[in-house]
Amino acid sequence: MRKSKKTVAVIGGGASGLVAALFAADAGCSVVLFEKQKALGRKLRITGNGRCNITNRDIDATHYHGHNPMFVKNIFARFGLDATIDFFESIGIPFCEGEGGRLYPASLQASSVVKILEYEARRRGVDVLLHRKVDRIEVSGGGVRLITAGKEEFDVDSAVLAAGSCAYSPLGASRSGYELAISLGHRVYEPFPSILPLTIPLKALHRLEGIKWDCRLSAILDGKIIAQSEEETLFTRYGISGPAALEISRAVNEAMTRGAIPEVNIDFFPRMDSNALMSLLDSLWDDGDRPIGFSLLGILKERMPAVVLHVIGIDTEMPVRAATAAQRSAIAAALKDFRVVPGEPRGFGEAVVAAGGVDVDQIHPATMESKIARGVHITGELLDIDGDSGGYNLQFAWSTGAIAGMAQ
Ligand SMILES: Cc1cc2nc3c(=O)[nH]c(=O)nc-3n(C[C@H](O)[C@H](O)[C@H](O)COP(=O)(O)OP(=O)(O)OC[C@H]3O[C@@H](n4cnc5c(N)ncnc54)[C@H](O)[C@@H]3O)c2cc1C
Repeated sequence: MRKSKKTVAVIGGGASGLVAALFAADAGCSVVLFEKQKALGRKLRITGNGRCNITNRDIDATHYHGHNPMFVKNIFARFGLDATIDFFESIGIPFCEGEGGRLYPASLQASSVVKILEYEARRRGVDVLLHRKVDRIEVSGGGVRLITAGKEEFDVDSAVLAAGSCAYSPLGASRSGYELAISLGHRVYEPFPSILPLTIPLKALHRLEGIKWDCRLSAILDGKIIAQSEEETLFTRYGISGPAALEISRAVNEAMTRGAIPEVNIDFFPRMDSNALMSLLDSLWDDGDRPIGFSLLGILKERMPAVVLHVIGIDTEMPVRAATAAQRSAIAAALKDFRVVPGEPRGFGEAVVAAGGVDVDQIHPATMESKIARGVHITGELLDIDGDSGGYNLQFAWSTGAIAGMAQ
């Protein structure tokens, strides 16, 4: 490392660290990037089902969560959607647009994003060190010392801690970043898994395994809706998955980590009000000879009538004419408000992101520098900010990485 230039160490070669390294190198710094794994951007390579949902047309604070989600306003005022688009286009990654304003690389390939970011980092002279886990960070008299797991020591002028979260452990994600931040004196809100399937212990529901259905899922706590999503739900052998379940998982898990017991309402007919559904059912029940389960097959997939009827205690073989008015209303009610209680949150192994992390009130948003440890900048998912599904988490990683890099 040449001593004449400012020396910057970036810890973590994921989304945020790569961008921080590029911008720091552009600012004229001598940059060394430490990545504990054998390759850069391992998580980035599988984002967006391998297509990398880089960002979204609709970037604003309402899509972010944490103890102080308004922190993102300061971030996006400095490096927002337009700056992100300009940056990626400048390195040869134009965009194409998908559903819900999601922006992807025109290649629709996450691995190409990693390859280009790595190429640009090396082209700018970033010294990339793989298999280098940073184990300790010490701040002293205007400089920062890093100590790796192999006991190598590196003295630099400043550091960017971009070590990510513990979500999606199969790809090597760990608590390392939190531990480093805590060792420097930071407050870390205990992470919990977000954007992941929900376990529903109700065994009858597991019989729907493999069925996809457009439901409205509502997470309900103390009679109030705390999250809602109307998208596809995938029923699994343990509960529910698919976009709708993933979307409400944060609110459910957050409530459960506080010891509260939320419920989930599954509305199988979100585009019909109760009266319209009752009329539809009445029209199906003209033929009084049909078994009541069979009578529902025209509007539900096989297995669904049996599950719904079982849960409300109605025999599927009962002829329609034998069903009382109360039983008919109960069927309509169950199809609009099928209530279940989620089980223990599933683990970080399946989580797309980790909510919680380093308290952003301890970070200067103009530079991402820590207010606690001078010379150390903290970026990306390690911070106590998590976004909705749809490109919001990567956008936060790019923006905070760019701000930290430009501040060098
Ligand atoms: C399956 C999946 C799909 C996703 N799809 C999307 C999507 O399409 N759009 C979206 O917006 N978000 C998506 N996300 C979330 C997104 O990938 C993350 O929010 C983002 O990668 C966070 O960037 P980061 O730089 O903070 O952390 P990471 O990208 O996780 O990078 C952190 C890096 O630091 C390294 N590291 C950790 N500790 C150390 C240490 N002590 N020393 C050296 N190196 C270390 C890690 O190995 C890792 O490479 C997805 C996540 C998953 C799991």
